[in-house]
Amino acid sequence: MKQVRNLVIVLGDQLNPDSAAFDGFDRERDAVWMAEVCQEATYVWSHQLRIAYFFSAMRHFRDLLRQRDIRVIYHGLTANPSQDQGHTLADVLQKSVTILEPHKIIMVLPGDYRVLSDIKNLSQGMNIDLETRQDRHFYLDVDEFAAYARDKKKIVLETFYRRMRKIHHILLDTGGDPIGGSWNFDRNNRNTFGKTGPKHVPEPVSFPPDETTREVMDMVRRRFNHHPGSLEDFTAPVTREEALKALDNFVAHRLPLFGTFEDAMWSDHPFLYHSRLSAPLNLKLISPMECVAAAIHAFETGHAPISSVEGFIRQIIGWREFIRGIYWVHMPDYGEMNHLEHLLDVPSFFWDGNTSMECIRQTMQSILSHGYTHHIQRLMIMGLYALLKGVNPKKFHEWHMAMYIDAVDWVSLPNTIGMSQYADGGIVGTKPYCASGNYINKMSNYCTHCTYDCHASWGTNACPFTTLYWDFLDRHYDKLRANARLAFQIQALMKKRADKDKMDRIRLQAQEIKKQ
Ligand code: SF4
Repeated sequence: MKQVRNLVIVLGDQLNPDSAAFDGFDRERDAVWMAEVCQEATYVWSHQLRIAYFFSAMRHFRDLLRQRDIRVIYHGLTANPSQDQGHTLADVLQKSVTILEPHKIIMVLPGDYRVLSDIKNLSQGMNIDLETRQDRHFYLDVDEFAAYARDKKKIVLETFYRRMRKIHHILLDTGGDPIGGSWNFDRNNRNTFGKTGPKHVPEPVSFPPDETTREVMDMVRRRFNHHPGSLEDFTAPVTREEALKALDNFVAHRLPLFGTFEDAMWSDHPFLYHSRLSAPLNLKLISPMECVAAAIHAFETGHAPISSVEGFIRQIIGWREFIRGIYWVHMPDYGEMNHLEHLLDVPSFFWDGNTSMECIRQTMQSILSHGYTHHIQRLMIMGLYALLKGVNPKKFHEWHMAMYIDAVDWVSLPNTIGMSQYADGGIVGTKPYCASGNYINKMSNYCTHCTYDCHASWGTNACPFTTLYWDFLDRHYDKLRANARLAFQIQALMKKRADKDKMDRIRLQAQEIKKQ
Protein backbone atom coordinates (compact mmCIF):
# COMPACT_ATOMS: atom_id res chain seq x y z
CA MET A 1 0.00 0.00 0.00
CA LYS A 2 1.28 3.47 -0.93
CA GLN A 3 2.79 5.18 2.11
CA VAL A 4 1.56 8.56 3.29
CA ARG A 5 3.08 11.69 4.76
CA ASN A 6 0.20 12.86 6.97
CA LEU A 7 -2.64 10.58 7.99
CA VAL A 8 -5.70 12.75 8.64
CA ILE A 9 -8.19 11.13 11.00
CA VAL A 10 -11.83 12.00 10.41
CA LEU A 11 -14.25 10.79 13.07
CA GLY A 12 -17.98 10.20 12.71
CA ASP A 13 -18.84 13.62 14.15
CA GLN A 14 -16.30 15.52 12.03
CA LEU A 15 -17.94 15.44 8.61
CA ASN A 16 -17.26 19.02 7.49
CA PRO A 17 -15.12 19.36 4.34
CA ASP A 18 -13.89 22.79 5.49
CA SER A 19 -12.51 21.24 8.68
CA ALA A 20 -9.10 22.38 9.95
CA ALA A 21 -8.03 18.75 9.52
CA PHE A 22 -7.68 19.42 5.79
CA ASP A 23 -5.54 22.56 6.10
CA GLY A 24 -2.36 21.95 4.09
CA PHE A 25 -3.67 18.62 2.80
CA ASP A 26 -1.59 17.36 -0.13
CA ARG A 27 -3.50 14.98 -2.40
CA GLU A 28 -0.25 13.41 -3.59
CA ARG A 29 1.20 12.63 -0.19
CA ASP A 30 -1.56 12.65 2.43
CA ALA A 31 -4.54 10.41 3.13
CA VAL A 32 -7.72 10.57 5.14
CA TRP A 33 -8.43 7.74 7.56
CA MET A 34 -11.94 6.80 8.68
CA ALA A 35 -13.23 3.74 10.48
CA GLU A 36 -16.50 2.23 11.62
CA VAL A 37 -15.67 0.19 14.70
CA CYS A 38 -17.75 -2.13 16.79
CA GLN A 39 -16.71 -0.47 20.05
CA GLU A 40 -18.41 2.81 19.07
CA ALA A 41 -21.69 0.93 18.55
CA THR A 42 -21.44 -1.15 21.69
CA TYR A 43 -19.59 0.72 24.50
CA VAL A 44 -23.04 2.06 25.18
CA TRP A 45 -25.85 -0.19 23.95
CA SER A 46 -26.60 2.04 20.96
CA HIS A 47 -29.97 2.47 19.30
CA GLN A 48 -29.98 0.82 15.87
CA LEU A 49 -30.85 4.14 14.23
CA ARG A 50 -27.94 5.87 15.93
CA ILE A 51 -25.45 3.28 14.61
CA ALA A 52 -26.91 3.48 11.11
CA TYR A 53 -27.06 7.28 11.14
CA PHE A 54 -23.40 7.80 12.01
CA PHE A 55 -22.11 5.12 9.64
CA SER A 56 -24.31 6.25 6.75
CA ALA A 57 -23.21 9.88 7.14
CA MET A 58 -19.58 8.71 7.32
CA ARG A 59 -19.88 6.66 4.11
CA HIS A 60 -21.48 9.59 2.30
CA PHE A 61 -18.64 11.83 3.48
CA ARG A 62 -16.07 9.25 2.35
CA ASP A 63 -17.67 9.27 -1.12
CA LEU A 64 -17.67 13.06 -1.24
CA LEU A 65 -13.94 13.19 -0.42
CA ARG A 66 -13.17 10.54 -3.03
CA GLN A 67 -15.10 12.53 -5.64
CA ARG A 68 -12.68 15.33 -4.79
CA ASP A 69 -9.72 13.05 -5.51
CA ILE A 70 -8.82 12.71 -1.87
CA ARG A 71 -7.37 9.38 -0.88
CA VAL A 72 -9.55 7.88 1.85
CA ILE A 73 -8.63 4.76 3.78
CA TYR A 74 -11.99 3.59 5.02
CA HIS A 75 -12.66 0.64 7.30
CA GLY A 76 -16.32 -0.27 7.09
CA LEU A 77 -18.09 -2.81 9.25
CA THR A 78 -19.78 -5.76 7.60
CA ALA A 79 -22.43 -8.11 8.95
CA ASN A 80 -19.63 -10.56 9.75
CA PRO A 81 -17.65 -9.61 12.90
CA SER A 82 -14.76 -11.89 11.91
CA GLN A 83 -13.98 -9.43 9.09
CA ASP A 84 -13.39 -6.56 11.55
CA GLN A 85 -9.91 -5.05 11.51
CA GLY A 86 -10.12 -4.61 15.27
CA HIS A 87 -12.62 -3.87 18.00
CA THR A 88 -11.63 -0.32 18.93
CA LEU A 89 -10.67 2.75 16.97
CA ALA A 90 -7.14 2.45 18.38
CA ASP A 91 -6.88 -1.23 17.27
CA VAL A 92 -7.76 -0.40 13.68
CA LEU A 93 -5.67 2.77 13.61
CA GLN A 94 -2.64 0.93 14.94
CA LYS A 95 -2.81 -1.53 12.04
CA SER A 96 -3.11 1.26 9.49
CA VAL A 97 -0.20 3.20 11.01
CA THR A 98 1.98 0.08 10.97
CA ILE A 99 1.28 -0.42 7.26
CA LEU A 100 1.30 3.20 6.08
CA GLU A 101 4.10 4.51 8.32
CA PRO A 102 2.88 8.14 8.19
CA HIS A 103 5.18 10.87 9.49
CA LYS A 104 2.35 12.39 11.41
CA ILE A 105 -1.25 11.86 12.47
CA ILE A 106 -3.47 14.92 12.22
CA MET A 107 -6.92 15.35 13.65
CA VAL A 108 -9.31 17.98 14.87
CA LEU A 109 -10.04 17.84 18.59
CA PRO A 110 -12.53 14.94 18.98
CA GLY A 111 -15.89 15.39 20.64
CA ASP A 112 -15.06 12.73 23.19
CA TYR A 113 -12.31 12.85 25.82
CA ARG A 114 -12.05 9.03 25.74
CA VAL A 115 -11.27 9.05 22.01
CA LEU A 116 -8.68 11.82 22.44
CA SER A 117 -6.95 9.82 25.20
CA ASP A 118 -6.97 6.62 23.13
CA ILE A 119 -5.40 8.30 20.11
CA LYS A 120 -2.85 10.19 22.23
CA ASN A 121 -1.85 6.91 23.91
CA LEU A 122 -1.51 5.22 20.57
CA SER A 123 0.67 7.97 19.13
CA GLN A 124 2.92 7.87 22.20
CA GLY A 125 3.08 4.08 22.16
CA MET A 126 3.97 4.02 18.46
CA ASN A 127 6.24 7.04 18.74
CA ILE A 128 4.47 8.96 16.03
CA ASP A 129 3.66 12.69 16.00
CA LEU A 130 0.08 13.64 16.68
CA GLU A 131 -1.16 17.10 15.74
CA THR A 132 -4.51 18.03 17.28
CA ARG A 133 -6.16 21.07 15.72
CA GLN A 134 -8.90 23.29 17.08
CA ASP A 135 -12.38 22.67 15.73
CA ARG A 136 -13.50 25.76 13.85
CA HIS A 137 -17.01 24.40 13.46
CA PHE A 138 -17.69 26.15 16.77
CA TYR A 139 -17.76 29.89 17.44
CA LEU A 140 -15.34 29.50 20.33
CA ASP A 141 -12.37 27.20 20.66
CA VAL A 142 -11.78 25.36 23.90
CA ASP A 143 -8.74 27.45 24.90
CA GLU A 144 -10.75 30.66 24.55
CA PHE A 145 -13.49 29.24 26.75
CA ALA A 146 -10.93 28.04 29.32
CA ALA A 147 -9.41 31.56 29.43
CA TYR A 148 -12.90 33.05 29.88
CA ALA A 149 -13.67 30.60 32.69
CA ARG A 150 -10.30 30.79 34.45
CA ASP A 151 -10.85 33.62 36.93
CA LYS A 152 -14.57 33.09 37.47
CA LYS A 153 -16.08 31.45 40.51
CA LYS A 154 -19.18 30.55 38.53
CA ILE A 155 -19.81 30.77 34.81
CA VAL A 156 -23.39 31.77 34.14
CA LEU A 157 -24.97 30.72 30.84
CA GLU A 158 -26.93 33.96 30.40
CA THR A 159 -23.81 36.13 30.93
CA PHE A 160 -21.84 33.95 28.54
CA TYR A 161 -24.63 34.14 25.95
CA ARG A 162 -24.80 37.94 26.05
CA ARG A 163 -21.05 38.10 25.65
CA MET A 164 -21.28 35.84 22.57
CA ARG A 165 -23.97 38.09 21.10
CA LYS A 166 -21.73 41.12 21.60
CA ILE A 167 -18.53 39.52 20.30
CA HIS A 168 -20.22 38.21 17.16
CA HIS A 169 -22.57 41.17 16.82
CA ILE A 170 -25.67 39.01 16.61
CA LEU A 171 -29.16 40.56 16.91
CA LEU A 172 -27.78 43.89 18.10
CA ASP A 173 -28.81 47.33 16.96
CA THR A 174 -26.35 49.99 15.86
CA GLY A 175 -25.91 51.15 19.46
CA GLY A 176 -24.95 47.63 20.56
CA ASP A 177 -28.27 47.02 22.35
CA PRO A 178 -30.27 43.84 21.82
CA ILE A 179 -32.82 44.00 19.02
CA GLY A 180 -36.34 43.84 20.40
CA GLY A 181 -35.29 45.52 23.64
CA SER A 182 -34.35 42.37 25.52
CA TRP A 183 -31.46 39.90 25.55
CA ASN A 184 -33.73 36.98 26.21
CA PHE A 185 -37.31 36.19 25.23
CA ASP A 186 -37.48 33.07 27.37
CA ARG A 187 -40.71 34.31 28.94
CA ASN A 188 -42.34 34.13 25.48
CA ASN A 189 -41.07 30.60 24.88
CA ARG A 190 -43.24 28.76 27.37
CA ASN A 191 -46.70 28.80 25.81
CA THR A 192 -48.85 25.70 25.86
CA PHE A 193 -51.35 24.43 23.30
CA GLY A 194 -54.25 24.86 25.71
CA LYS A 195 -56.99 22.27 25.52
CA THR A 196 -57.40 22.21 21.76
CA GLY A 197 -53.87 21.22 20.83
CA PRO A 198 -51.48 22.41 18.13
CA LYS A 199 -52.87 23.80 14.88
CA HIS A 200 -51.29 23.35 11.47
CA VAL A 201 -48.16 21.46 12.47
CA PRO A 202 -46.04 21.29 9.29
CA GLU A 203 -45.28 17.88 7.80
CA PRO A 204 -41.87 16.71 9.02
CA VAL A 205 -39.09 17.00 6.49
CA SER A 206 -37.85 13.56 5.58
CA PHE A 207 -34.93 12.10 3.63
CA PRO A 208 -35.64 8.52 2.56
CA PRO A 209 -32.63 6.18 2.70
CA ASP A 210 -30.59 5.98 -0.51
CA GLU A 211 -28.55 2.95 -1.58
CA THR A 212 -25.62 3.77 0.72
CA THR A 213 -27.91 4.15 3.71
CA ARG A 214 -29.80 0.98 2.84
CA GLU A 215 -26.52 -0.96 2.80
CA VAL A 216 -25.69 0.34 6.27
CA MET A 217 -29.20 -0.44 7.51
CA ASP A 218 -28.88 -3.98 6.20
CA MET A 219 -25.57 -4.41 8.07
CA VAL A 220 -27.08 -2.99 11.27
CA ARG A 221 -30.15 -5.23 10.98
CA ARG A 222 -27.96 -8.30 10.64
CA ARG A 223 -25.36 -7.41 13.20
CA PHE A 224 -27.02 -5.22 15.82
CA ASN A 225 -30.65 -6.37 15.72
CA HIS A 226 -30.64 -7.03 19.48
CA HIS A 227 -29.95 -3.33 20.09
CA PRO A 228 -32.82 -1.01 21.11
CA GLY A 229 -34.97 0.99 18.72
CA SER A 230 -36.03 0.47 15.16
CA LEU A 231 -34.75 1.41 11.71
CA GLU A 232 -38.19 1.77 10.15
CA ASP A 233 -38.23 5.58 10.34
CA PHE A 234 -34.80 6.45 8.95
CA THR A 235 -35.52 9.94 7.64
CA ALA A 236 -32.64 12.04 8.97
CA PRO A 237 -30.30 14.03 6.69
CA VAL A 238 -27.03 12.19 6.05
CA THR A 239 -25.33 14.62 3.67
CA ARG A 240 -24.58 18.32 3.72
CA GLU A 241 -27.11 18.91 0.90
CA GLU A 242 -29.83 17.19 2.89
CA ALA A 243 -28.88 19.04 6.06
CA LEU A 244 -29.12 22.38 4.25
CA LYS A 245 -32.57 21.39 2.95
CA ALA A 246 -33.60 20.50 6.51
CA LEU A 247 -32.42 23.95 7.66
CA ASP A 248 -34.35 25.69 4.83
CA ASN A 249 -37.44 23.67 5.65
CA PHE A 250 -37.25 24.54 9.35
CA VAL A 251 -36.82 28.24 8.69
CA ALA A 252 -39.62 28.31 6.13
CA HIS A 253 -42.21 26.28 8.02
CA ARG A 254 -41.44 25.95 11.72
CA LEU A 255 -39.23 28.78 12.93
CA PRO A 256 -42.06 31.36 13.12
CA LEU A 257 -43.84 29.33 15.83
CA PHE A 258 -40.75 27.62 17.28
CA GLY A 259 -40.24 30.17 20.05
CA THR A 260 -43.86 30.35 21.13
CA PHE A 261 -44.21 26.60 21.66
CA GLU A 262 -40.59 25.70 22.40
CA ASP A 263 -41.43 23.98 25.70
CA ALA A 264 -44.86 22.54 24.83
CA MET A 265 -45.60 18.86 24.23
CA TRP A 266 -48.55 17.05 22.66
CA SER A 267 -49.44 13.39 22.11
CA ASP A 268 -48.36 11.88 18.78
CA HIS A 269 -46.57 15.10 17.78
CA PRO A 270 -42.90 14.38 18.44
CA PHE A 271 -41.51 17.19 16.26
CA LEU A 272 -43.99 20.09 16.46
CA TYR A 273 -42.08 23.29 15.52
CA HIS A 274 -38.60 22.05 16.45
CA SER A 275 -35.75 22.11 13.95
CA ARG A 276 -34.34 18.59 14.51
CA LEU A 277 -31.02 20.04 13.34
CA SER A 278 -29.05 18.85 16.36
CA ALA A 279 -27.99 15.59 14.66
CA PRO A 280 -26.69 17.11 11.41
CA LEU A 281 -25.13 19.95 13.43
CA ASN A 282 -23.35 17.60 15.82
CA LEU A 283 -22.03 15.50 12.91
CA LYS A 284 -21.02 18.87 11.37
CA LEU A 285 -22.95 18.41 8.15
CA ILE A 286 -23.96 22.05 8.62
CA SER A 287 -22.40 24.80 10.68
CA PRO A 288 -23.87 26.81 13.55
CA MET A 289 -23.02 29.97 11.60
CA GLU A 290 -25.25 28.83 8.72
CA CYS A 291 -28.10 28.20 11.14
CA VAL A 292 -27.70 31.58 12.82
CA ALA A 293 -27.47 33.41 9.46
CA ALA A 294 -30.64 31.69 8.20
CA ALA A 295 -32.56 32.61 11.37
CA ILE A 296 -31.39 36.25 11.23
CA HIS A 297 -32.43 36.45 7.59
CA ALA A 298 -35.88 35.15 8.56
CA PHE A 299 -36.16 37.92 11.16
CA GLU A 300 -34.86 40.67 8.90
CA THR A 301 -37.31 39.74 6.14
CA GLY A 302 -40.22 39.71 8.57
CA HIS A 303 -40.75 35.97 8.24
CA ALA A 304 -40.16 35.06 11.90
CA PRO A 305 -40.59 37.07 15.13
CA ILE A 306 -37.72 38.04 17.41
CA SER A 307 -38.92 35.67 20.16
CA SER A 308 -38.49 32.65 17.87
CA VAL A 309 -35.28 33.79 16.24
CA GLU A 310 -33.66 34.79 19.54
CA GLY A 311 -34.76 31.52 21.16
CA PHE A 312 -33.23 29.47 18.35
CA ILE A 313 -30.00 31.49 18.27
CA ARG A 314 -29.70 31.27 22.08
CA GLN A 315 -29.63 27.48 21.82
CA ILE A 316 -26.83 27.62 19.26
CA ILE A 317 -24.45 30.38 20.32
CA GLY A 318 -25.38 30.27 24.02
CA TRP A 319 -26.26 26.84 25.29
CA ARG A 320 -24.35 24.73 22.74
CA GLU A 321 -21.07 26.66 23.01
CA PHE A 322 -21.38 26.94 26.81
CA ILE A 323 -21.94 23.20 27.23
CA ARG A 324 -18.92 22.37 25.09
CA GLY A 325 -16.72 24.78 27.04
CA ILE A 326 -17.84 23.26 30.35
CA TYR A 327 -17.04 19.78 29.03
CA TRP A 328 -13.44 20.53 28.13
CA VAL A 329 -12.76 22.66 31.21
CA HIS A 330 -13.94 19.92 33.57
CA MET A 331 -12.94 16.67 31.87
CA PRO A 332 -12.05 13.99 32.84
CA ASP A 333 -13.50 14.49 36.35
CA TYR A 334 -16.85 15.74 35.12
CA GLY A 335 -18.10 12.30 34.08
CA GLU A 336 -17.71 10.95 37.61
CA MET A 337 -19.58 13.72 39.43
CA ASN A 338 -22.50 12.59 41.56
CA HIS A 339 -23.42 15.48 43.87
CA LEU A 340 -26.72 13.91 44.95
CA GLU A 341 -25.15 10.46 45.41
CA HIS A 342 -27.68 8.75 43.17
CA LEU A 343 -26.98 5.08 42.56
CA LEU A 344 -29.98 3.39 40.92
CA ASP A 345 -30.09 1.79 37.47
CA VAL A 346 -31.93 3.26 34.50
CA PRO A 347 -35.45 1.72 34.57
CA SER A 348 -36.13 -1.05 32.02
CA PHE A 349 -38.86 1.04 30.34
CA PHE A 350 -36.21 3.58 29.35
CA TRP A 351 -35.12 0.93 26.82
CA ASP A 352 -38.46 -0.41 25.57
CA GLY A 353 -41.12 2.16 26.54
CA ASN A 354 -43.16 -0.47 28.32
CA THR A 355 -44.86 1.63 31.01
CA SER A 356 -48.32 2.91 31.87
CA MET A 357 -46.98 6.42 32.46
CA GLU A 358 -48.36 8.15 29.37
CA CYS A 359 -45.75 10.92 29.30
CA ILE A 360 -42.89 8.42 29.26
CA ARG A 361 -44.72 6.11 26.85
CA GLN A 362 -45.17 8.98 24.37
CA THR A 363 -41.59 10.14 24.76
CA MET A 364 -40.21 6.63 24.40
CA GLN A 365 -42.23 6.12 21.23
CA SER A 366 -40.36 9.02 19.67
CA ILE A 367 -37.00 7.83 21.01
CA LEU A 368 -37.46 4.27 19.75
CA SER A 369 -38.70 5.37 16.32
CA HIS A 370 -36.58 8.45 15.68
CA GLY A 371 -33.74 8.49 18.22
CA TYR A 372 -35.06 11.94 18.99
CA THR A 373 -37.17 14.02 21.32
CA HIS A 374 -37.11 17.73 21.82
CA HIS A 375 -35.35 19.34 24.76
CA ILE A 376 -38.27 19.46 27.19
CA GLN A 377 -39.01 15.75 26.78
CA ARG A 378 -35.32 15.07 27.46
CA LEU A 379 -35.09 17.40 30.44
CA MET A 380 -38.56 17.34 31.96
CA ILE A 381 -39.77 13.82 31.19
CA MET A 382 -36.88 11.35 30.90
CA GLY A 383 -34.30 13.44 32.77
CA LEU A 384 -36.80 14.45 35.43
CA TYR A 385 -37.87 10.88 36.10
CA ALA A 386 -34.23 9.74 36.39
CA LEU A 387 -33.43 12.65 38.72
CA LEU A 388 -36.44 12.17 41.00
CA LYS A 389 -35.96 8.43 41.17
CA GLY A 390 -32.24 8.69 41.91
CA VAL A 391 -30.68 7.09 38.82
CA ASN A 392 -26.90 7.11 38.75
CA PRO A 393 -26.06 10.17 36.59
CA LYS A 394 -23.36 8.40 34.60
CA LYS A 395 -25.76 5.57 33.78
CA PHE A 396 -28.32 8.14 32.69
CA HIS A 397 -25.68 9.78 30.46
CA GLU A 398 -24.81 6.40 28.94
CA TRP A 399 -28.49 5.78 28.26
CA HIS A 400 -28.78 9.20 26.62
CA MET A 401 -25.67 8.52 24.51
CA ALA A 402 -27.15 5.21 23.42
CA MET A 403 -30.64 6.38 22.51
CA TYR A 404 -30.30 9.80 20.83
CA ILE A 405 -28.89 10.04 17.32
CA ASP A 406 -27.51 13.51 18.04
CA ALA A 407 -25.61 12.54 21.20
CA VAL A 408 -21.85 13.09 21.25
CA ASP A 409 -19.96 13.00 24.54
CA TRP A 410 -19.17 16.74 24.71
CA VAL A 411 -22.85 17.64 24.52
CA SER A 412 -24.45 14.66 26.23
CA LEU A 413 -22.32 14.67 29.37
CA PRO A 414 -22.90 18.26 30.57
CA ASN A 415 -26.51 18.02 29.41
CA THR A 416 -27.18 14.93 31.52
CA ILE A 417 -24.69 15.08 34.40
CA GLY A 418 -25.05 18.83 34.77
CA MET A 419 -28.27 20.28 33.46
CA SER A 420 -30.57 17.32 33.87
CA GLN A 421 -29.23 15.42 36.90
CA TYR A 422 -27.55 18.26 38.87
CA ALA A 423 -24.73 15.81 39.54
CA ASP A 424 -22.15 18.60 39.09
CA GLY A 425 -23.65 20.46 42.07
CA GLY A 426 -24.39 23.58 40.05
CA ILE A 427 -21.62 24.04 37.48
CA VAL A 428 -24.01 24.07 34.52
CA GLY A 429 -27.23 25.14 36.19
CA THR A 430 -28.15 26.99 39.32
CA LYS A 431 -30.68 24.45 40.62
CA PRO A 432 -31.92 20.95 39.89
CA TYR A 433 -34.76 20.86 37.34
CA CYS A 434 -37.21 19.13 39.67
CA ALA A 435 -40.96 19.28 39.22
CA SER A 436 -44.01 17.19 39.92
CA GLY A 437 -46.52 15.74 37.45
CA ASN A 438 -48.26 19.12 37.54
CA TYR A 439 -45.59 20.62 35.30
CA ILE A 440 -46.08 17.87 32.71
CA ASN A 441 -49.83 18.39 32.94
CA LYS A 442 -49.41 22.11 32.31
CA MET A 443 -47.11 21.69 29.30
CA SER A 444 -48.85 18.78 27.54
CA ASN A 445 -52.03 16.75 27.20
CA TYR A 446 -50.33 13.53 28.36
CA CYS A 447 -52.01 13.43 31.77
CA THR A 448 -55.51 13.43 30.28
CA HIS A 449 -54.74 10.03 28.72
CA CYS A 450 -52.94 8.56 31.72
CA THR A 451 -54.10 6.09 34.34
CA TYR A 452 -52.39 8.16 37.02
CA ASP A 453 -53.53 11.42 38.57
CA CYS A 454 -50.83 14.06 38.26
CA HIS A 455 -52.14 15.89 41.36
CA ALA A 456 -52.07 12.85 43.65
CA SER A 457 -48.88 12.30 45.62
CA TRP A 458 -49.87 9.01 47.26
CA GLY A 459 -52.49 6.30 46.81
CA THR A 460 -53.20 3.76 44.09
CA ASN A 461 -53.50 6.26 41.24
CA ALA A 462 -50.82 8.69 42.41
CA CYS A 463 -48.58 10.02 39.66
CA PRO A 464 -45.11 8.51 40.12
CA PHE A 465 -43.55 11.87 39.19
CA THR A 466 -45.49 13.61 41.95
CA THR A 467 -44.72 10.99 44.58
CA LEU A 468 -41.05 11.00 43.66
CA TYR A 469 -40.95 14.80 43.53
CA TRP A 470 -41.87 15.19 47.20
CA ASP A 471 -39.59 12.32 48.15
CA PHE A 472 -36.73 13.95 46.19
CA LEU A 473 -37.10 17.30 47.98
CA ASP A 474 -37.48 15.50 51.30
CA ARG A 475 -34.43 13.30 51.01
CA HIS A 476 -32.19 16.06 49.60
CA TYR A 477 -33.48 18.75 51.93
CA ASP A 478 -30.06 19.37 53.49
CA LYS A 479 -28.39 19.93 50.13
CA LEU A 480 -31.18 22.02 48.61
CA ARG A 481 -32.61 24.16 51.39
CA ALA A 482 -30.07 26.98 50.97
CA ASN A 483 -30.72 27.31 47.23
CA ALA A 484 -32.65 30.55 46.80
CA ARG A 485 -34.09 29.40 43.48
CA LEU A 486 -35.78 26.50 45.26
CA ALA A 487 -37.19 28.60 48.11
CA PHE A 488 -40.78 28.22 46.95
CA GLN A 489 -40.47 24.46 46.57
CA ILE A 490 -38.75 24.03 49.93
CA GLN A 491 -41.48 26.08 51.56
CA ALA A 492 -44.10 23.78 50.03
CA LEU A 493 -42.15 20.78 51.29
CA MET A 494 -42.23 22.15 54.82
CA LYS A 495 -46.03 22.35 54.59
CA LYS A 496 -46.15 18.79 53.30
CA ARG A 497 -43.89 17.61 56.12
CA ALA A 498 -46.24 19.19 58.65
CA ASP A 499 -48.63 16.32 57.91
CA LYS A 500 -46.40 13.54 59.17
CA ASP A 501 -48.72 10.68 58.18
CA LYS A 502 -49.04 11.92 54.64
CA MET A 503 -45.32 12.45 54.28
CA ASP A 504 -44.62 8.95 55.57
CA ARG A 505 -47.03 7.49 53.02
CA ILE A 506 -45.27 9.41 50.24
CA ARG A 507 -41.89 8.15 51.44
CA LEU A 508 -43.13 4.57 51.54
CA GLN A 509 -44.73 4.79 48.11
CA ALA A 510 -41.56 6.34 46.69
CA GLN A 511 -39.57 3.40 48.06
CA GLU A 512 -41.85 1.03 46.14
CA ILE A 513 -41.50 3.01 42.90
CA LYS A 514 -37.73 3.04 43.25
CA LYS A 515 -37.67 -0.76 43.32
CA GLN A 516 -39.26 -0.96 39.85
FE1 SF4 B 1 -46.95 11.42 33.43
FE2 SF4 B 1 -48.02 11.55 35.87
FE3 SF4 B 1 -49.14 12.87 33.84
FE4 SF4 B 1 -49.24 10.21 33.93
S1 SF4 B 1 -50.18 11.63 35.38
S2 SF4 B 1 -48.79 11.46 32.15
S3 SF4 B 1 -47.27 9.72 34.84
S4 SF4 B 1 -47.14 13.22 34.71
